[in-house]
Amino acid sequence: MAELLKGKAVASAMKDELVEKVEALKAKGITPKLGIIRVGAKPDDLFYEGGAKKTCSSVGMDYEVFEYPQDIGQEDLEKAVVEVGGKKDVHGILMFAPLPKHLDEKKIRSLIPVEKDVDCMTLGSAGKVFADDQTGFPPCTPTACMDMLKFYDIPLKGKKVVVLGRSLIVGKPVAMLLLREHATVTICHSRTENLPAVCREADVLVAAVGRAKMVNADYVKEGQIVIDVGINEDPDRPGKYCGDVDSESVEPIVAKLTPVPGGVGSVTTAVLCKQTIMACELQNS
Ligand code: NDP
Repeated sequence: MAELLKGKAVASAMKDELVEKVEALKAKGITPKLGIIRVGAKPDDLFYEGGAKKTCSSVGMDYEVFEYPQDIGQEDLEKAVVEVGGKKDVHGILMFAPLPKHLDEKKIRSLIPVEKDVDCMTLGSAGKVFADDQTGFPPCTPTACMDMLKFYDIPLKGKKVVVLGRSLIVGKPVAMLLLREHATVTICHSRTENLPAVCREADVLVAAVGRAKMVNADYVKEGQIVIDVGINEDPDRPGKYCGDVDSESVEPIVAKLTPVPGGVGSVTTAVLCKQTIMACELQNS
């Protein structure tokens, strides 16, 4: 049976390091602060926000929520984002997306200052990630995948890694981060031919397709490491969620697997804090 690579241990070790970094900044009179921009009150956003606030507090950081009504106009939100972005005491910004449909989200994202864009909402940050410029922050989830792989000492140099999914929020940036570690990366998507066979070739398989339990025994091989990024409603257990990997069929075959829940998802708020602290350090260096 596969060893389960749990996220809790990764997040906990990361938080210990962050506490020290925050203390060092506080000794210089600086408290790192995350600004959270939320339009409306979607349950998923509120759930993530609750986790982010809790993690900020646990490492000694500040946070402030900037909440706007669901029917806010384009001009008002643009002004608000510029204002939050200009606050000297806010070092990192998390903005929940997607925004309501009447808003021009592309325009609003572009108003977040790149140096405070700790979840890669802007093209400026994405460009830096693709250019290997370490002053640009990747989205938190791809960073969490990399932190999981590093924590559990999974070798990447020269290894075949298949990324299943090509979104700008997970698939593409995680592929770039894997390339940085000298992996040989294949990115797959809905038009990839012989998908299970391509996935079976991988030493490390990163599943980010958004399809509940799609990755089954056909997609994996013995000895493989599988990182399951998916968060989906579980079709077999109403009210619960599951990954993109069918863990029941995959666990008896592969060497290591991140569980859902309790895997990558449980590292993302620690990463959000880590990237905000890094942004704070850069802004004060
Ligand atoms: P998207 O829907 O934006 O992208 C899904 C990708 O998977 C696309 O590239 C799509 O291909 C590909 N795909 C879809 N169906 C198939 C298929 N049948 N065969 C092959 N490829 C397919 O999803 P996201 O990247 O935003 O999210 C992926 C998963 O990760 C979701 O389950 C999401 O909930 C989860 N997630 C988890 C986070 C966390 O913190 N753990 C954070 C963000 C997301 P194509 O481009 O051709 O359409």
